[in-house]
Amino acid sequence: MKYLLLVCLFYGVLAKHELYDGHAVYEVDVHSVEQTKLVHDFENDLLLDIWSHAVPGHPGKVLVPKAKRDIFENFLEQNHVQYKVETENIKEQLDKEDELLASAAARSNSSRIGFERIHTYEEVEAYLDQLARDYPNVVSVVLGGRSVEGRPIRYLKISTTNFQDARKPVVMIQSLLHSREWVTLPATLYAIRKLVVDVSESDLVQNIDWIILPIANPDGYIFTLTDRFWRKNRATRYMVANRCPGVDLNRNFDHIWGTASSSNPCQETFHGAGPFSEPEAAVIRDIIIEHRNRMALFLDIHSFGSMILFPYGDGVLPPNALQLNLVGVQMAQAIDRVKWPSNKNYVVGNILHVLRYAASGGAGDYAINVAAPYSYTFELPAFRNSIWMDGFLVEPAFIEQAGFETWEGIKVGARAAAAAFRNGKAV
Ligand SMILES: [Zn+2]
Repeated sequence: MKYLLLVCLFYGVLAKHELYDGHAVYEVDVHSVEQTKLVHDFENDLLLDIWSHAVPGHPGKVLVPKAKRDIFENFLEQNHVQYKVETENIKEQLDKEDELLASAAARSNSSRIGFERIHTYEEVEAYLDQLARDYPNVVSVVLGGRSVEGRPIRYLKISTTNFQDARKPVVMIQSLLHSREWVTLPATLYAIRKLVVDVSESDLVQNIDWIILPIANPDGYIFTLTDRFWRKNRATRYMVANRCPGVDLNRNFDHIWGTASSSNPCQETFHGAGPFSEPEAAVIRDIIIEHRNRMALFLDIHSFGSMILFPYGDGVLPPNALQLNLVGVQMAQAIDRVKWPSNKNYVVGNILHVLRYAASGGAGDYAINVAAPYSYTFELPAFRNSIWMDGFLVEPAFIEQAGFETWEGIKVGARAAAAAFRNGKAV
Protein backbone atom coordinates (compact mmCIF):
# COMPACT_ATOMS: atom_id res chain seq x y z
CA MET A 1 0.00 0.00 0.00
CA LYS A 2 2.78 2.34 1.04
CA TYR A 3 4.66 1.40 -2.11
CA LEU A 4 1.61 2.11 -4.23
CA LEU A 5 1.23 5.52 -2.61
CA LEU A 6 4.88 6.31 -3.31
CA VAL A 7 4.48 5.26 -6.92
CA CYS A 8 1.38 7.43 -7.23
CA LEU A 9 3.16 10.40 -5.71
CA PHE A 10 6.14 9.91 -7.96
CA TYR A 11 3.95 9.54 -11.00
CA GLY A 12 1.99 12.62 -9.94
CA VAL A 13 5.17 14.66 -9.94
CA LEU A 14 6.29 13.25 -13.25
CA ALA A 15 2.88 13.81 -14.82
CA LYS A 16 2.79 17.50 -13.98
CA HIS A 17 2.70 19.59 -17.15
CA GLU A 18 2.74 16.41 -19.25
CA LEU A 19 0.00 18.10 -21.26
CA TYR A 20 2.57 20.55 -22.58
CA ASP A 21 5.41 18.14 -23.24
CA GLY A 22 6.82 19.01 -26.67
CA HIS A 23 4.84 22.22 -27.06
CA ALA A 24 7.06 24.89 -28.61
CA VAL A 25 6.81 28.66 -28.48
CA TYR A 26 7.36 30.29 -31.87
CA GLU A 27 8.22 33.88 -32.56
CA VAL A 28 6.64 34.82 -35.89
CA ASP A 29 7.70 37.91 -37.80
CA VAL A 30 5.36 39.22 -40.50
CA HIS A 31 6.19 41.89 -43.04
CA SER A 32 2.94 42.83 -44.71
CA VAL A 33 -0.77 43.15 -44.10
CA GLU A 34 -1.32 40.04 -46.22
CA GLN A 35 1.11 37.98 -44.14
CA THR A 36 -0.47 39.29 -40.95
CA LYS A 37 -3.90 38.07 -41.96
CA LEU A 38 -2.59 34.83 -43.41
CA VAL A 39 -0.73 33.91 -40.22
CA HIS A 40 -3.55 34.98 -37.94
CA ASP A 41 -6.14 32.97 -39.87
CA PHE A 42 -3.92 29.91 -40.03
CA GLU A 43 -3.14 30.05 -36.31
CA ASN A 44 -6.87 30.21 -35.64
CA ASP A 45 -7.65 27.37 -38.04
CA LEU A 46 -5.10 25.20 -36.26
CA LEU A 47 -6.65 26.21 -32.91
CA LEU A 48 -3.29 27.40 -31.70
CA ASP A 49 -2.91 29.38 -28.49
CA ILE A 50 -1.87 32.84 -29.70
CA TRP A 51 0.06 34.57 -26.91
CA SER A 52 0.56 37.79 -28.85
CA HIS A 53 -0.41 38.68 -32.38
CA ALA A 54 2.25 39.15 -35.02
CA VAL A 55 2.02 42.51 -36.80
CA PRO A 56 4.63 44.18 -39.01
CA GLY A 57 7.41 45.46 -36.75
CA HIS A 58 6.21 43.41 -33.77
CA PRO A 59 6.83 39.66 -33.86
CA GLY A 60 4.08 37.56 -32.29
CA LYS A 61 4.29 34.55 -30.03
CA VAL A 62 2.32 31.37 -30.42
CA LEU A 63 2.28 28.06 -28.58
CA VAL A 64 2.32 25.07 -30.94
CA PRO A 65 1.70 21.44 -29.83
CA LYS A 66 4.22 18.86 -30.96
CA ALA A 67 1.76 17.24 -33.41
CA LYS A 68 1.14 20.53 -35.20
CA ARG A 69 4.70 21.80 -35.46
CA ASP A 70 5.43 20.34 -38.91
CA ILE A 71 2.28 21.64 -40.52
CA PHE A 72 2.80 25.05 -38.90
CA GLU A 73 6.42 25.34 -40.01
CA ASN A 74 5.57 24.16 -43.54
CA PHE A 75 2.88 26.78 -43.81
CA LEU A 76 5.19 29.57 -42.67
CA GLU A 77 7.93 28.46 -45.04
CA GLN A 78 5.59 28.15 -48.01
CA ASN A 79 4.38 31.68 -47.37
CA HIS A 80 7.87 33.07 -46.74
CA VAL A 81 7.04 34.11 -43.20
CA GLN A 82 10.07 34.43 -40.93
CA TYR A 83 9.99 32.61 -37.64
CA LYS A 84 12.16 31.18 -34.95
CA VAL A 85 11.57 28.62 -32.26
CA GLU A 86 11.92 30.53 -29.04
CA THR A 87 11.31 27.56 -26.76
CA GLU A 88 11.66 23.97 -27.94
CA ASN A 89 9.74 22.43 -25.07
CA ILE A 90 7.65 24.64 -22.81
CA LYS A 91 7.28 21.82 -20.28
CA GLU A 92 10.87 22.37 -19.18
CA GLN A 93 10.05 25.98 -18.38
CA LEU A 94 6.90 24.98 -16.55
CA ASP A 95 8.88 22.55 -14.41
CA LYS A 96 11.43 25.26 -13.77
CA GLU A 97 8.72 27.71 -12.72
CA ASP A 98 7.43 25.17 -10.18
CA GLU A 99 10.91 24.60 -8.86
CA LEU A 100 11.69 28.31 -8.50
CA LEU A 101 8.37 29.12 -6.85
CA ALA A 102 8.71 26.18 -4.47
CA SER A 103 12.22 27.10 -3.39
CA ALA A 104 11.26 30.77 -2.98
CA ALA A 105 8.33 29.70 -0.81
CA ALA A 106 10.56 27.41 1.26
CA ARG A 107 13.02 30.25 1.90
CA SER A 108 10.32 32.53 3.23
CA ASN A 109 9.02 31.90 6.74
CA SER A 110 6.40 34.58 6.65
CA SER A 111 2.98 33.44 7.75
CA ARG A 112 1.15 36.46 6.34
CA ILE A 113 0.51 37.01 2.66
CA GLY A 114 3.79 38.12 1.18
CA PHE A 115 5.23 38.46 -2.29
CA GLU A 116 7.64 35.55 -2.40
CA ARG A 117 5.27 33.39 -4.42
CA ILE A 118 1.84 33.36 -6.08
CA HIS A 119 -0.93 32.58 -3.62
CA THR A 120 -3.74 30.10 -4.10
CA TYR A 121 -7.45 30.90 -4.26
CA GLU A 122 -7.90 29.49 -0.74
CA GLU A 123 -5.06 31.58 0.67
CA VAL A 124 -6.42 34.76 -0.88
CA GLU A 125 -9.91 33.99 0.41
CA ALA A 126 -8.58 33.49 3.93
CA TYR A 127 -6.55 36.70 3.63
CA LEU A 128 -9.60 38.76 2.70
CA ASP A 129 -11.42 37.45 5.79
CA GLN A 130 -8.39 38.14 7.95
CA LEU A 131 -8.25 41.75 6.73
CA ALA A 132 -11.95 42.24 7.42
CA ARG A 133 -11.38 40.97 10.98
CA ASP A 134 -8.23 43.01 11.58
CA TYR A 135 -9.45 46.26 10.00
CA PRO A 136 -13.22 46.28 10.52
CA ASN A 137 -13.43 50.07 10.23
CA VAL A 138 -12.10 50.22 6.69
CA VAL A 139 -12.41 46.77 5.15
CA SER A 140 -15.39 44.63 4.28
CA VAL A 141 -15.57 41.48 2.17
CA VAL A 142 -18.47 41.19 -0.24
CA LEU A 143 -19.75 38.07 -1.94
CA GLY A 144 -20.44 39.23 -5.48
CA GLY A 145 -21.79 35.94 -6.74
CA ARG A 146 -20.63 32.47 -7.66
CA SER A 147 -18.58 31.05 -10.49
CA VAL A 148 -19.80 28.42 -12.94
CA GLU A 149 -18.49 25.73 -10.58
CA GLY A 150 -20.11 27.44 -7.61
CA ARG A 151 -17.10 29.08 -6.02
CA PRO A 152 -17.60 32.39 -4.19
CA ILE A 153 -16.37 35.43 -6.10
CA ARG A 154 -15.51 37.87 -3.36
CA TYR A 155 -14.06 41.35 -3.36
CA LEU A 156 -12.85 43.90 -0.83
CA LYS A 157 -14.44 47.25 -0.19
CA ILE A 158 -11.97 49.64 1.38
CA SER A 159 -13.39 52.88 2.72
CA THR A 160 -12.94 55.21 5.69
CA THR A 161 -16.61 56.15 5.41
CA ASN A 162 -18.16 52.74 4.79
CA PHE A 163 -19.03 53.72 1.22
CA GLN A 164 -21.60 56.19 2.60
CA ASP A 165 -20.02 59.42 1.36
CA ALA A 166 -21.50 60.03 -2.09
CA ARG A 167 -18.96 62.77 -2.79
CA LYS A 168 -16.11 60.28 -2.90
CA PRO A 169 -15.02 58.69 -6.15
CA VAL A 170 -14.75 54.90 -6.40
CA VAL A 171 -11.78 53.12 -7.95
CA MET A 172 -12.15 49.48 -8.96
CA ILE A 173 -9.24 47.13 -9.67
CA GLN A 174 -9.47 43.49 -10.69
CA SER A 175 -6.98 40.77 -11.60
CA LEU A 176 -6.97 37.20 -12.92
CA LEU A 177 -9.95 37.58 -15.26
CA HIS A 178 -7.63 35.52 -17.48
CA SER A 179 -6.56 32.83 -15.09
CA ARG A 180 -3.10 32.07 -16.46
CA GLU A 181 -1.92 35.65 -15.96
CA TRP A 182 -0.57 34.85 -12.51
CA VAL A 183 1.66 37.91 -12.21
CA THR A 184 -1.47 40.10 -12.03
CA LEU A 185 -2.44 38.78 -8.59
CA PRO A 186 0.45 40.48 -6.76
CA ALA A 187 -0.69 43.79 -8.30
CA THR A 188 -4.05 43.71 -6.51
CA LEU A 189 -2.59 42.20 -3.34
CA TYR A 190 0.03 44.94 -3.23
CA ALA A 191 -2.64 47.60 -3.67
CA ILE A 192 -4.54 46.07 -0.75
CA ARG A 193 -1.41 46.12 1.37
CA LYS A 194 -0.75 49.80 0.64
CA LEU A 195 -4.36 50.80 1.26
CA VAL A 196 -4.96 48.78 4.42
CA VAL A 197 -1.91 47.24 6.10
CA ASP A 198 1.01 49.50 5.32
CA VAL A 199 -0.52 52.90 4.53
CA SER A 200 2.06 55.52 3.64
CA GLU A 201 -0.12 57.86 1.54
CA SER A 202 -3.30 58.34 3.51
CA ASP A 203 -4.96 60.68 0.99
CA LEU A 204 -5.60 57.63 -1.18
CA VAL A 205 -7.75 56.01 1.50
CA GLN A 206 -9.26 59.25 2.83
CA ASN A 207 -10.37 60.61 -0.51
CA ILE A 208 -11.25 57.49 -2.46
CA ASP A 209 -13.39 54.38 -1.90
CA TRP A 210 -11.78 51.24 -3.34
CA ILE A 211 -13.15 48.00 -4.72
CA ILE A 212 -10.57 45.28 -5.25
CA LEU A 213 -11.37 41.93 -6.84
CA PRO A 214 -8.18 39.84 -6.77
CA ILE A 215 -9.51 36.64 -8.37
CA ALA A 216 -12.10 37.46 -11.01
CA ASN A 217 -12.05 33.94 -12.49
CA PRO A 218 -11.65 31.50 -9.59
CA ASP A 219 -12.50 28.26 -11.46
CA GLY A 220 -10.03 29.07 -14.21
CA TYR A 221 -7.41 30.06 -11.66
CA ILE A 222 -7.72 26.80 -9.76
CA PHE A 223 -7.59 24.92 -13.05
CA THR A 224 -4.24 26.55 -13.88
CA LEU A 225 -2.76 24.29 -11.21
CA THR A 226 -3.59 21.43 -13.60
CA ASP A 227 -3.26 23.27 -16.90
CA ARG A 228 -0.96 26.24 -16.40
CA PHE A 229 -2.01 28.06 -19.59
CA TRP A 230 -5.77 27.95 -18.95
CA ARG A 231 -7.25 31.37 -19.83
CA LYS A 232 -11.05 31.04 -19.84
CA ASN A 233 -13.64 30.15 -17.23
CA ARG A 234 -14.76 26.51 -16.85
CA ALA A 235 -18.23 26.57 -18.42
CA THR A 236 -19.07 23.13 -19.79
CA ARG A 237 -22.38 23.87 -21.48
CA TYR A 238 -20.83 24.83 -24.83
CA MET A 239 -18.63 21.78 -25.12
CA VAL A 240 -18.26 20.07 -28.47
CA ALA A 241 -18.01 16.28 -28.31
CA ASN A 242 -17.03 16.57 -24.67
CA ARG A 243 -14.16 18.89 -25.55
CA CYS A 244 -13.33 22.59 -25.26
CA PRO A 245 -14.91 23.97 -22.08
CA GLY A 246 -14.67 27.62 -21.14
CA VAL A 247 -15.58 31.12 -22.20
CA ASP A 248 -13.16 34.02 -22.57
CA LEU A 249 -14.57 36.31 -19.88
CA ASN A 250 -12.94 39.37 -21.42
CA ARG A 251 -15.07 38.83 -24.55
CA ASN A 252 -18.31 38.30 -22.59
CA PHE A 253 -19.20 41.91 -21.69
CA ASP A 254 -21.87 43.97 -23.36
CA HIS A 255 -20.07 46.24 -25.76
CA ILE A 256 -20.10 45.32 -29.45
CA TRP A 257 -20.32 41.75 -28.14
CA GLY A 258 -19.50 39.03 -30.64
CA THR A 259 -18.02 41.28 -33.33
CA ALA A 260 -14.31 40.65 -32.70
CA SER A 261 -14.20 37.37 -30.79
CA SER A 262 -14.85 33.74 -31.58
CA SER A 263 -18.08 31.73 -31.78
CA ASN A 264 -16.05 28.51 -31.63
CA PRO A 265 -15.82 27.07 -28.09
CA CYS A 266 -12.43 25.57 -28.98
CA GLN A 267 -10.89 29.02 -29.52
CA GLU A 268 -9.22 30.98 -26.73
CA THR A 269 -11.45 33.98 -27.47
CA PHE A 270 -14.80 32.16 -27.41
CA HIS A 271 -17.38 34.75 -26.34
CA GLY A 272 -20.14 32.58 -24.83
CA ALA A 273 -23.88 32.58 -25.59
CA GLY A 274 -24.38 36.31 -25.25
CA PRO A 275 -23.34 39.32 -23.17
CA PHE A 276 -23.00 38.27 -19.53
CA SER A 277 -23.88 34.65 -20.22
CA GLU A 278 -21.14 33.84 -17.69
CA PRO A 279 -21.69 34.45 -13.97
CA GLU A 280 -18.12 35.72 -13.48
CA ALA A 281 -18.71 38.56 -15.97
CA ALA A 282 -22.14 39.24 -14.46
CA VAL A 283 -20.57 39.75 -11.01
CA ILE A 284 -18.30 42.45 -12.42
CA ARG A 285 -21.21 44.04 -14.29
CA ASP A 286 -23.23 44.21 -11.07
CA ILE A 287 -20.40 45.90 -9.15
CA ILE A 288 -19.96 48.45 -11.93
CA ILE A 289 -23.68 49.21 -12.07
CA GLU A 290 -24.00 49.47 -8.30
CA HIS A 291 -21.32 52.16 -8.23
CA ARG A 292 -21.97 53.70 -11.62
CA ASN A 293 -22.50 57.24 -10.28
CA ARG A 294 -19.23 57.30 -8.40
CA MET A 295 -16.86 55.04 -10.31
CA ALA A 296 -14.02 57.27 -11.49
CA LEU A 297 -11.50 54.65 -12.54
CA PHE A 298 -11.69 51.00 -13.61
CA LEU A 299 -8.50 48.97 -13.93
CA ASP A 300 -8.46 45.48 -15.37
CA ILE A 301 -5.02 43.98 -14.77
CA HIS A 302 -3.74 41.46 -17.35
CA SER A 303 -0.40 40.20 -18.65
CA PHE A 304 1.80 40.33 -20.67
CA GLY A 305 3.38 43.05 -22.80
CA SER A 306 4.05 46.22 -20.69
CA MET A 307 1.06 48.13 -22.02
CA ILE A 308 -1.66 50.44 -20.74
CA LEU A 309 -4.63 50.23 -23.10
CA PHE A 310 -7.83 52.24 -23.24
CA PRO A 311 -11.18 51.73 -25.03
CA TYR A 312 -12.62 50.79 -27.36
CA GLY A 313 -11.56 47.38 -28.57
CA ASP A 314 -12.61 48.20 -32.13
CA GLY A 315 -10.47 51.32 -32.33
CA VAL A 316 -13.30 53.81 -31.83
CA LEU A 317 -12.17 56.47 -29.37
CA PRO A 318 -14.31 57.66 -26.45
CA PRO A 319 -14.99 61.42 -26.24
CA ASN A 320 -12.37 61.78 -23.48
CA ALA A 321 -9.66 59.89 -25.38
CA LEU A 322 -7.16 62.73 -24.95
CA GLN A 323 -7.51 62.65 -21.16
CA LEU A 324 -7.39 58.86 -21.22
CA ASN A 325 -4.17 59.01 -23.17
CA LEU A 326 -2.70 61.72 -20.93
CA VAL A 327 -3.44 59.89 -17.66
CA GLY A 328 -2.34 56.62 -19.26
CA VAL A 329 1.02 58.16 -20.12
CA GLN A 330 1.38 59.56 -16.61
CA MET A 331 0.74 56.12 -15.13
CA ALA A 332 3.21 54.53 -17.54
CA GLN A 333 5.88 57.09 -16.71
CA ALA A 334 5.43 56.45 -12.99
CA ILE A 335 5.94 52.72 -13.59
CA ASP A 336 8.86 53.22 -15.97
CA ARG A 337 10.66 55.35 -13.36
CA VAL A 338 10.90 52.39 -10.97
CA LYS A 339 10.81 49.39 -13.31
CA TRP A 340 13.69 47.01 -13.70
CA PRO A 341 16.03 48.11 -16.50
CA SER A 342 15.76 44.70 -18.15
CA ASN A 343 12.06 45.27 -18.80
CA LYS A 344 10.97 47.52 -21.63
CA ASN A 345 9.12 50.81 -21.24
CA TYR A 346 5.35 50.75 -21.15
CA VAL A 347 3.41 51.57 -24.30
CA VAL A 348 0.15 53.53 -23.97
CA GLY A 349 -2.75 53.80 -26.39
CA ASN A 350 -6.07 52.60 -27.64
CA ILE A 351 -6.51 48.81 -27.61
CA LEU A 352 -6.73 48.39 -31.39
CA HIS A 353 -4.11 51.01 -32.15
CA VAL A 354 -1.52 49.36 -29.91
CA LEU A 355 -2.34 45.68 -30.38
CA ARG A 356 -3.36 46.14 -34.04
CA TYR A 357 -6.15 43.67 -33.66
CA ALA A 358 -9.72 44.22 -32.53
CA ALA A 359 -11.34 42.76 -29.44
CA SER A 360 -15.03 42.95 -28.52
CA GLY A 361 -16.91 42.37 -25.30
CA GLY A 362 -14.10 43.60 -23.06
CA ALA A 363 -14.63 44.50 -19.40
CA GLY A 364 -12.91 47.86 -19.80
CA ASP A 365 -15.14 48.87 -22.72
CA TYR A 366 -18.24 48.05 -20.71
CA ALA A 367 -16.97 49.95 -17.65
CA ILE A 368 -16.32 53.16 -19.57
CA ASN A 369 -19.75 53.00 -21.21
CA VAL A 370 -21.65 52.46 -18.01
CA ALA A 371 -19.65 54.02 -15.21
CA ALA A 372 -15.97 54.91 -15.19
CA PRO A 373 -14.74 57.80 -17.36
CA TYR A 374 -11.21 56.46 -16.88
CA SER A 375 -10.94 52.79 -17.83
CA TYR A 376 -7.76 50.89 -18.66
CA THR A 377 -6.46 47.42 -19.29
CA PHE A 378 -2.95 46.96 -17.94
CA GLU A 379 -0.70 44.35 -19.50
CA LEU A 380 2.03 43.71 -16.95
CA PRO A 381 5.54 42.81 -18.13
CA ALA A 382 6.76 39.39 -19.02
CA PHE A 383 9.92 39.16 -16.99
CA ARG A 384 12.67 38.35 -19.46
CA ASN A 385 15.82 38.61 -17.46
CA SER A 386 15.97 34.89 -17.04
CA ILE A 387 16.24 32.63 -20.03
CA TRP A 388 13.77 30.32 -18.35
CA MET A 389 10.90 32.64 -17.93
CA ASP A 390 8.75 34.26 -20.53
CA GLY A 391 5.19 35.11 -21.40
CA PHE A 392 2.87 33.99 -18.65
CA LEU A 393 5.46 32.30 -16.47
CA VAL A 394 6.47 33.97 -13.25
CA GLU A 395 9.92 34.53 -11.90
CA PRO A 396 9.65 34.65 -8.07
CA ALA A 397 12.17 37.49 -7.85
CA PHE A 398 9.81 39.65 -9.91
CA ILE A 399 6.61 39.10 -7.89
CA GLU A 400 7.04 41.88 -5.35
CA GLN A 401 8.44 44.21 -8.00
CA ALA A 402 5.37 43.59 -10.18
CA GLY A 403 3.17 44.63 -7.28
CA PHE A 404 5.30 47.61 -6.34
CA GLU A 405 5.78 49.11 -9.79
CA THR A 406 2.16 48.62 -10.84
CA TRP A 407 1.05 50.35 -7.66
CA GLU A 408 3.15 53.38 -8.66
CA GLY A 409 1.02 53.62 -11.80
CA ILE A 410 -2.28 52.90 -10.04
CA LYS A 411 -1.69 55.76 -7.57
CA VAL A 412 -1.20 58.26 -10.37
CA GLY A 413 -4.32 57.07 -12.18
CA ALA A 414 -6.42 57.06 -9.02
CA ARG A 415 -5.42 60.60 -8.05
CA ALA A 416 -6.02 61.95 -11.56
CA ALA A 417 -9.41 60.24 -11.90
CA ALA A 418 -10.42 61.36 -8.39
CA ALA A 419 -9.45 64.97 -9.14
CA ALA A 420 -11.49 64.91 -12.36
CA PHE A 421 -14.43 63.44 -10.45
CA ARG A 422 -14.28 66.16 -7.79
CA ASN A 423 -14.03 68.88 -10.42
CA GLY A 424 -17.05 67.46 -12.17
CA LYS A 425 -15.00 67.03 -15.28
CA ALA A 426 -15.91 63.41 -15.58
CA VAL A 427 -17.42 62.73 -18.96
ZN1 LIG B 1 -5.54 38.78 -20.35
